[in-house]
Amino acid sequence: MNGIIFPMSKLPSKKKTIRDNIITGLILLFALVGIVTTLSYFVHLFKIAQAKLFPGTAIEEDINVYVKTIDVERPEIDVQLLTINPYSRPGIAISGVKNVVIHYTANPGSTAQQNRDYFEGLKDRQELKVSSHFIIGLDGEIIQCIPTSEISYASNNRNGDTVSIECCHPDKSGKFTKKTYNSLVWLSAFICAKYDLSGDDLIRHYDVSGKLCPKYFVENEDKWLKLKADVNTFIKERGSKEFNDE
Ligand SMILES: [Zn+2]
Repeated sequence: MNGIIFPMSKLPSKKKTIRDNIITGLILLFALVGIVTTLSYFVHLFKIAQAKLFPGTAIEEDINVYVKTIDVERPEIDVQLLTINPYSRPGIAISGVKNVVIHYTANPGSTAQQNRDYFEGLKDRQELKVSSHFIIGLDGEIIQCIPTSEISYASNNRNGDTVSIECCHPDKSGKFTKKTYNSLVWLSAFICAKYDLSGDDLIRHYDVSGKLCPKYFVENEDKWLKLKADVNTFIKERGSKEFNDE
């Protein structure tokens, strides 16, 4: 009798153990899936925040990040960085780029190279603090003096969050040559795309401090609005857009 009773009383308990193990296994599996999903969601949020805070470092290869990225082809830029010095390149980090400020040299006929060398010479002459990230010459050539990750000394109280473009001009009217203008449109579009801005974010030195700079665009408001519109058109036609609505 014992031989029969023993297996019968043992059998249900064994089944129960297997069932318990399966339930425990499933609970662990669900918990693991939950943890992985939660973690990947936070990584996702972090990437979006990172791409919004530092547009230049948007993680473009990650198709799961639905951040708008517009790229405009880089114009030819002659990079001649200034020596770090307190008068023209203080080496201070920029705190984001909210606007692009347009200037004119107020020195008719001077070249981009002369203006760049003038900024460089300030480290020795120590006369005043002035510079610009970019200078566009009479033939449309672009010289970069300061990385856009650092501030320039161009736009008074807006040096901390703007990129500056200085433009050469042939005469006292301050009107730019066609080549200078075309380079200005392209360079502005490139910078706007890089920092998720548009032509509407272009401002004049005049808008910052009331200074008559850039003279031609202060005296000819319609031409100024045309420049902003031309930058928007350039971004629209030459910029590559990538949206991922997920
Ligand atoms: Zn100016």
